[in-house]
Amino acid sequence: MKRVLITGAAGFLGSHLSDRFIKEGYYVIGMDNLVTGDLRNIEHLRSNPHFEFIHHDVSKHIVIDGDLDYILNFASPASPIDYLKIPIQTLKVGSLGTHNCLGLAKAKGARILVASTSEVYGDPLVHPQNEEYWGHVNPVGLRGCYDEAKRFQEAITMAYHRHHGVETRIVRIFNTYGPRMRLNDGRVLPAFIGQALRGEDLTVFGDGSQTRSFCYVDDLVEGIYRLLLSDHPMPVNVGNPAEITIGQFAEEIIKLTGTSQKVIYKPLPQDDPKQRQPDITLARKVLGWEPKVSREEGLRITYDYFRNLPEERLYEESNHRQF
Ligand code: NAD
Ligand code: UDP
Repeated sequence: MKRVLITGAAGFLGSHLSDRFIKEGYYVIGMDNLVTGDLRNIEHLRSNPHFEFIHHDVSKHIVIDGDLDYILNFASPASPIDYLKIPIQTLKVGSLGTHNCLGLAKAKGARILVASTSEVYGDPLVHPQNEEYWGHVNPVGLRGCYDEAKRFQEAITMAYHRHHGVETRIVRIFNTYGPRMRLNDGRVLPAFIGQALRGEDLTVFGDGSQTRSFCYVDDLVEGIYRLLLSDHPMPVNVGNPAEITIGQFAEEIIKLTGTSQKVIYKPLPQDDPKQRQPDITLARKVLGWEPKVSREEGLRITYDYFRNLPEERLYEESNHRQF
């Protein structure tokens, strides 16, 4: 049985990846310090004999007994309000945490895939963004703690690949959504759905003309699975190219939820990217991958998840245990 370590396993993406690797017949070691994660995301796996959970901060030395075939490094706050609250932990997990995971991969002879992000392109001047673009990032802006940690992660991953011959993969993930996002994590989809469910107005930042391209989680997981098993060490964009303005997105959520609330406008956060759309030519070519789930279908599944949560979860302040 192949053994895989998934860091950030109690988070949104880590928990879905854990499900997928269990389903594919792997033994999964999930690691998380629960800073933004939630054990409820992996509750269903805790009694599975092919799953174990280790509570650990990956920015500190990692010890795993036995062999490891693969490491998926997904530990990191991912939502702007999360990483603004814990900028130093965010920088540490992207740098020291990644370094520890790479060292572990080298020691175990494991292949490692690291979770990078469309944020490495910053507020992009090239549209759509392809992997050749070096980006337009403000290192000293509020998002710098996340963007530069992720850029460092890519650099150290390539250094371990070139210098130590470690088998590495880098996925640049564009905005992904689905069940198990935290309603209070501040990202636009849970923010809008949470507001609709609580009977509050939907808060659009800026004039709503900024764009994003939303990928349903199952599509992303399929892309990551294929990338891990591919022989492509350079970064690959994985995301859904269907682009929409945030204003239009708010209207879609109003229609989906049937809320009678309206849109209200709030100031645009600093360095909020004006446009974002993945060029997935490379993923199509090297992974034979493209997204299959339309936004309409993905939003319906995600809304069903949120509206079936116990009501008190709509009002949970935050599960950030260490903030
Ligand atoms: P999430 O906050 O739901 O999950 C992150 C998990 O990492 C949490 O469970 C958290 O507790 C854990 N974690 C954070 N710091 C840790 C540390 N020092 N040690 C151990 N565990 C730690 O976020 P997510 O959306 O699932 O994102 C997962 C990864 O994917 C992140 O690396 C993020 O940068 C990347 N990513 C996500 C998206 C997206 O749209 N969801 C987009 C781009 C990149
Ligand atoms: N946004 C918004 N209202 C909210 C939350 C977010 O208008 O309540 C906007 C935000 O300014 C950004 C977009 O939605 O332009 C996506 O934000 P998110 O935090 O989901 O991710 P980002 O892509 O900015 O990292």
